[in-house]
Amino acid sequence: MRVGVLGAGQLGRMLALAGYPLGLEFLFLDPVEDAPTDGLADRIKAPFDDRAALDRLAAAVDVVTYEFENVPVEAPRHLATWIPVFPPPEALDVAQDRLAEKTMFRRLGIPTPAFAAVDSHAELLDALSSIGLPAVLKTRRLGYDGKGQRVLREASDIDAAWQELGAAPLILEAFVPFKREISVLAVRSRSGPSVFYPLVENEHRGGILHRSLAPAANLSTATTQAVDAHAAHLLDALHYVGVLAIEFFDLDGTLLANEMAPRVHNSGHWTMDGSETSQFENHLRAILGWPLGGTEAVGCAAMLNLVGSVPSTSEVLSLPGAHLHLYGKEPRAGRKLGHVNLCADDPRTLALLVQDLERIIEQTAAPRR
Ligand code: AMP
Repeated sequence: MRVGVLGAGQLGRMLALAGYPLGLEFLFLDPVEDAPTDGLADRIKAPFDDRAALDRLAAAVDVVTYEFENVPVEAPRHLATWIPVFPPPEALDVAQDRLAEKTMFRRLGIPTPAFAAVDSHAELLDALSSIGLPAVLKTRRLGYDGKGQRVLREASDIDAAWQELGAAPLILEAFVPFKREISVLAVRSRSGPSVFYPLVENEHRGGILHRSLAPAANLSTATTQAVDAHAAHLLDALHYVGVLAIEFFDLDGTLLANEMAPRVHNSGHWTMDGSETSQFENHLRAILGWPLGGTEAVGCAAMLNLVGSVPSTSEVLSLPGAHLHLYGKEPRAGRKLGHVNLCADDPRTLALLVQDLERIIEQTAAPRR
């Protein structure tokens, strides 16, 4: 079996690493000069909208998936006329537009922050009169890691934000004074069943995921069940196959959906070492119609992203329960270069390990920044 993947970044690399033990082969398509999958698998180096290159990919593989959210949706749509593509291109289409995404959440009864479409300065003022300040103005498309958005705290912020973002279609959202951010990973197999990983608590720094803790502490069974039910509704509505991530704001026990990602997700990297089956293996099992693996957490786990620089390997590995995953990327400010998973039997031990790791990252990565 050969899996075709649109995008050859670290998510693709980790998919390949999870797929080789299952006897799978991979062929990636990505236009970048150097890709994290290079050296691991063959790659068609071509733009995502190159029809001839897409046709070559389709002819050489049994199934296609994507690991990059900003792939033009026409690429998986074109491939789907030839061969199976999972997750369905429709899911990518919805996820690429924050307005379509939140409208779908609302239609399915999934709570979200108040929101409104903004296509003109007048509509912005209208939306503000119903949503109020503070609010967040975001581009509908191509926003990621906090890019393409502005928090409006007072009336004097409005015009500057409009100047900066107003050329693109926008969405205005109520600002949520959340206590923390939570995400869920749901997986549905081509052969039917769905499974859900434990909810995870995520901390962002500078708009980039800094750390995930799994399972998230202090969540009632009722909240967890409600989130799983929301995820199940989305899987059904989208005829979904593969891993789907949904991010929520936790407002003192009330969870409001922020966005979804129709792919393996950074907040699921802990599953590589902290769960019975990694998200990458389960994604592959799902798109190939194979039985899904267990999603239980084995003890508890933390995932810390290595952004911009990489700490000393031997210092990291000196921590009990530490697993280092590097993506083979050249260091650059703001770039995700790898992550460390920490596994422990209990949250107290894990908290101490996280402290130690943060210190090691601070001390051994800083000089190279
Ligand atoms: P996003 O690109 O929508 O994931 O937003 C990036 C980050 O901005 C989120 O992880 C939050 O920390 C913050 N953020 C986004 N939307 C809101 C909101 N409506 N209220 C408060 N913070 C937000």
